[in-house]
Amino acid sequence: MMHRSPCPLLATACAVVAAALAASALPASAAPVLVEAEAFESPGGWMLDTQFIDQMGSPYLMAHGMGIPVEDAGTTVTFAKPGTYRVWVRTKNWVEIFSDPNAKTKAPGRFQVLINGKALPDEFGVSGAEWHWQDGGEVTIEGDSAAVALHDLTGFNGRCDAILFSDDPNFTPDNSNEVLPKWRREMLGLPGEPEEEGPYDIVFIGGGYAGSCGAISAARMGLKVALIQNRGVLGGNGSSEVRVWAKGTTPPGLYPIGDIIREFSDDAQASPGTYEEFEDDKKEQIIKAEPKVALFLNHHAYAVEMENRAKIKSVLALDTLTGTVRRFTARNFCDATGHGTIGMMANADREMIDGGRMGMSNMWRWEVTDTAQTFPETPWALDLKEGEFPYPKKFHAEWFWESGFNRHPLNDLESIRDWNLRANFGAWNAMKNKGAYDRYDESGNAHKNARLIWMAYVGGTRETQQLLGDIVLTEEDIVNKRPFPDGCVLTTWSVDLHYPAEQYEKAYPDRPFISKAVHGHGVDRKKGYPVPYRCFFSRNIENLFMAGRNISVTHEALGTVRVMKTCGMMGVVVGKAAAICSKFDVTPRDVYYEHLEDLITLLRLPGYMRRDSLDGEFYEDPKLPKLEEPDMGYVPKASLSGIVIDDSEAKLTGNWAEGAGLPNFVENGYHYTREKGATARYEFNVPKTGEYEVRLSFQPHENRSTKTPVTVISAGGEMTQTVNQRIAPPLAKGFCTLGAFKFKEGEKGAVILGTEGVDGNVHADAVQVLPLEE
Ligand SMILES: Cc1cc2nc3c(=O)[nH]c(=O)nc-3n(C[C@H](O)[C@H](O)[C@H](O)COP(=O)(O)OP(=O)(O)OC[C@H]3O[C@@H](n4cnc5c(N)ncnc54)[C@H](O)[C@@H]3O)c2cc1C
Repeated sequence: MMHRSPCPLLATACAVVAAALAASALPASAAPVLVEAEAFESPGGWMLDTQFIDQMGSPYLMAHGMGIPVEDAGTTVTFAKPGTYRVWVRTKNWVEIFSDPNAKTKAPGRFQVLINGKALPDEFGVSGAEWHWQDGGEVTIEGDSAAVALHDLTGFNGRCDAILFSDDPNFTPDNSNEVLPKWRREMLGLPGEPEEEGPYDIVFIGGGYAGSCGAISAARMGLKVALIQNRGVLGGNGSSEVRVWAKGTTPPGLYPIGDIIREFSDDAQASPGTYEEFEDDKKEQIIKAEPKVALFLNHHAYAVEMENRAKIKSVLALDTLTGTVRRFTARNFCDATGHGTIGMMANADREMIDGGRMGMSNMWRWEVTDTAQTFPETPWALDLKEGEFPYPKKFHAEWFWESGFNRHPLNDLESIRDWNLRANFGAWNAMKNKGAYDRYDESGNAHKNARLIWMAYVGGTRETQQLLGDIVLTEEDIVNKRPFPDGCVLTTWSVDLHYPAEQYEKAYPDRPFISKAVHGHGVDRKKGYPVPYRCFFSRNIENLFMAGRNISVTHEALGTVRVMKTCGMMGVVVGKAAAICSKFDVTPRDVYYEHLEDLITLLRLPGYMRRDSLDGEFYEDPKLPKLEEPDMGYVPKASLSGIVIDDSEAKLTGNWAEGAGLPNFVENGYHYTREKGATARYEFNVPKTGEYEVRLSFQPHENRSTKTPVTVISAGGEMTQTVNQRIAPPLAKGFCTLGAFKFKEGEKGAVILGTEGVDGNVHADAVQVLPLEE
């Protein structure tokens, strides 16, 4: 469900202005009337799509009903005079770009345009691989206004940019892909000059983890900050629109720069999880609670104005609902768009690798209901059969539904998203309509009762281009722990690179749609590697910072730094560096060469410290949480009392896999297996004879065993019990108790995990032995 505030006046107001122009200039024919779809009074069930503005020129409305036609979008259009008008609708047939014979004849996204409730004779969205103005024929307008509606016929992603009425038989609309060209602005009655915003100390463009956490950090340093985000929600890929869970850890490391991330971050338990799990409202409230942050949601930055070749003067952003253009001036700018587009527009040094990038995903979820659910056939989608795609286990299709590896990550972005939709719908069609009724899902229900409940229409992107700083960090730097004096943001993810999975590359060489991840093991995931500050500012644009996935790293290094908690910490560092720039009137580069000590002093401040102005004193803000317990993603042995035996010290028999994906394990990961006969034996010697409590730690998961046999060998003999490893252990730091036992000094005690009778994986982490008497 998308949340947004429609602009009730725009369509009518524009038409009135256009009418006024017509009355004075051309009395014979009225000026054309342009109605932007995104400015409709009511969007109904149509979604606002702002992802491709830079490519096709405008936000647009899309009927993303997952096979169920969405509610009409409607508005009132005012005309200067009654008469006969030709109607033009800017749209496309979104599958025609793919060379598939069904694309032309079976257009998925068909819709009608209703004028005063009556449909124009032709359907729209039926032809044209590119955005174009489809001639909708003539309509007679009898009064001075008409109700205009978009009526979706399919629920399969029909799209409309704008509608134009003209009573001039010789008029044809300009189809340029320019963002808000002069003719559109004039027809909409928008002022020729942008509204002025600022000056700010820093403007963050992009409201993902990097931009949002950066804005918070800068504001708490006493800076005047603007945050521009082209969606209605914050969080970027970590919002309810894309639903990626935030990974990477925020270890205490050198500086407490992780606590703003812990404050901002959600606690999503799945990727993709539910809408609620991603806590859009909480994220927005945290930003809105910052008095020094001006938040501009639904604003797309589409141009930069340069003071000279090496300095940005301002950024222009388009209000994606009203068309208002705002000019943001600032001392510094931070490109946190993920795409690096601000740097690109400023001609910052940058690198986009030729191909083999990581791609875009549109994840999806389904559920089983009590009643039969139908799903329309999708002849225009990928013609998939079960077995030709990974079964979406646990009711969701995850990160590896990914495509676009060799496609241009900006110019081809809409077709990459649309290919993902074709793959997703093709797979669902196979599950619903191609004999999959026989197959039973994990709940024991047939697919007959299954229905699609969510599919991201906002794609999650991973790699576009890198803006280059004074250091371009490499995988070798990270793996070899190359020290830099400005190392600050700890990267804790493995070098995780994605490639098309072989069988899909073979079947769909142009556009494979399933990926595999290859994880390098060179990153110290526990302590992290400190990424240097010099990756966070442009080497040739003197007032441009960058944070998030578009920082100065190689493709391989992006494999580790791109996870969201790490991106968030980059923003925090940029916020603090921007404070040094404003205070000492220096550039981001000077911060390193002349003020590194000052930067480090600010990096040492926890997130709950703030000052109200650059000259003010820092104080603890009582309203901010003191998140002092660091989220290290693991439990150090040293933080536990008593005797602790990690799985790495246990004697293992049989085949055990190593894991680290479920966080908060003791020391370095854990082992798991369900192989018959496998055992994990934890041995220990107590310092003196007496009663001890024996505890077991594990990280619960749905695929773990509910009856893992655990044997304790004590002075009293052997005792076996079963432990349910799907349920979180109740004690602190992920432990459950196995009971009190007597152990004798000099006699080995042991705990043994086995696989006898298990119904899932046995999870072996740590054993703790605590004295019960002094
Ligand atoms: C399917 C998938 C799975 C992933 N798995 C994980 C995972 O498990 N854990 C993890 O932590 N990371 C994961 N990642 C990677 C991670 O999501 C990204 O690397 C991360 O989101 C980058 O953060 P960011 O703040 O740089 O950019 P983004 O999250 O992309 O945020 C940038 C924001 O800027 C906005 N924007 C862009 N251009 C403009 C503009 N011109 N004007 C205004 N606003 C603009 C965008 O709408 C977006 O909201 C995954 C990514 C994908 C796609």
